Amino acid sequence: MYLRQEGIPFEERDINEDRAAREDFLRRGLTGVPSFLIGDQVVVGLDKQKIRSLMDFSILPCQNCRKQLRIPKGKGKIRITCPECGSRMVKET
Ligand SMILES: [Zn+2]
Repeated sequence: MYLRQEGIPFEERDINEDRAAREDFLRRGLTGVPSFLIGDQVVVGLDKQKIRSLMDFSILPCQNCRKQLRIPKGKGKIRITCPECGSRMVKET
């Protein structure tokens, strides 16, 4: 209901009925519902503040090592340094 109110698009998966979703849930070591997967980040429970803050980022693979980087949205042109390989890139956000 919160996600609908906020106009946040989402895909709902029921771990009691969706076997693949249940396996994914267990593989991530999750223990409680609802859990939210936003990009590569997991939020357990309806932590509205955390969900909102994660929505303000997009996930982008590093051009060099393919590590998933969290890039803030709406910051204009920013310089990013990959924490994994130190590769630098400039992105329009
Ligand atoms: Zn990298």
